[in-house]
Amino acid sequence: MGKRIVIALGGNALGSTLPEQMIAVKKTAKAIADLIEDGNDVVIAHGNGPQVGMLQKAMAELTRAEPDKYIPCPLSVCVAMSQGYIGYDLQNALREELLDRGIHKGVSTVLTQVEVDPKDPAFDHPTKPIGAFMTKEEADRLVAERGYDVVEDAGRGYRRVVASPMPQSIVEIESIRDMVDAGLVVVACGGGGIPVFRTEGHHLKGAAAVIDKDFASCVLAESLDADALIILTAVEKVAVHYGKPDQQWLDDLTPEAAEQYAAAGEFAPGSMLPKVQAAVRFARSAPGRTALITLLEKARDGIAGRTGTRIHS
Ligand code: ADP
Ligand code: MG
Repeated sequence: MGKRIVIALGGNALGSTLPEQMIAVKKTAKAIADLIEDGNDVVIAHGNGPQVGMLQKAMAELTRAEPDKYIPCPLSVCVAMSQGYIGYDLQNALREELLDRGIHKGVSTVLTQVEVDPKDPAFDHPTKPIGAFMTKEEADRLVAERGYDVVEDAGRGYRRVVASPMPQSIVEIESIRDMVDAGLVVVACGGGGIPVFRTEGHHLKGAAAVIDKDFASCVLAESLDADALIILTAVEKVAVHYGKPDQQWLDDLTPEAAEQYAAAGEFAPGSMLPKVQAAVRFARSAPGRTALITLLEKARDGIAGRTGTRIHS
C-alpha cells in the first residue's frame, strides 16, 4: 500500500553552485522516483542556504553598483527567487526520470509562503548570518538606513543577521493538498518557505527572516496528514557520541528517547538538532506517523525499514 510521504531534501541533494545543482538533482530525482515507483504519493521540500546566499549577494551587488536605480532586494523576495530556481531544476530532473521509467505524472513547484508570528521570540535575537561580509562602514550604513541587525563575525568582517522564527502555517496549503490528492508530484516549502506576517485585512507582508526547512517540512507533513516525513541529509543514521570513538548509530527511537538525547546535547544545534526536533514533533502529532532520517540514496531502503534512524511512538 502506498504512503503519503513528505521528503525534506538537505544541502547535499542540491549542491552549492549552478553546475553542481544541475548534476546533483539527477541523483536526487532517482531517489525520489524510486519512492514514486513503489506507489507512494510524494511531496518534496528542500533547503536553499547556498542558493539564497548567492541570490542575496547578487542583488546586493546590483544595489551597490547602481544605488539610484536599484533599492536593496527584500530577503523574502530572494527566498521566492530561490524557490523558483531550485524548483525549476528539481521538477525538470524528476519529470525526465519519471518519463524514462514510463511513469506519467505531473510535477509542479508551488511558490510557498509560510506564516510566522511577529511576536516569535526569535525576532528579539536574530542568529542566522546571511549574505556577504561587509566593512564596518558598510555595516553601520545598513544599520542606520535600513535598521538591519549586523554582527562581527570572528574577525572576518561584518554580516547581516536575521531571525529564524518557527513556521506557523502554510498559506498555499489548500492548493498543495488539492494537487497531491489529484496525483501530482509537488515541490513546496522551498528554503523553509517565504516567511510572511499576516497584517490588516488579507494582506501578507514578507518578513526579513529565514525559516528552518526541517521545521517547515514538519508543518507541511502534518498539514497534509502524511504517513511519513523523510529527512534526507549527509548521514545514513543519527548517532549518539557523534564523531567520538564511542559513537553509536541509532535505528529506532521513541520521541521520548530522542528528546532525552537532545537534552543531553547529542545533536548539534543548526544541523542535526532541528531534524530530530522536527522528527519528534511529527511522530507525536498523530498515531501511526513515522519520521525517518537517512541518506538521500538510502530513502527507499529506509522507508522499507532496512536503514536510517526512525522516530515513532
Ligand atoms: P542538511 O543540509 O541536510 O540540513 P546539515 O549539515 O544541516 O545538513 O545537518 C546534517 C549534519 O549533521 C550531518 O552531516 C552531521 O555532520 C551533523 N550531525 C551533528 N550531530 C549529529 C549526530 N548526533 N548524528 C549524526 N549527524 C550529526
Ligand atoms: Mg541543515
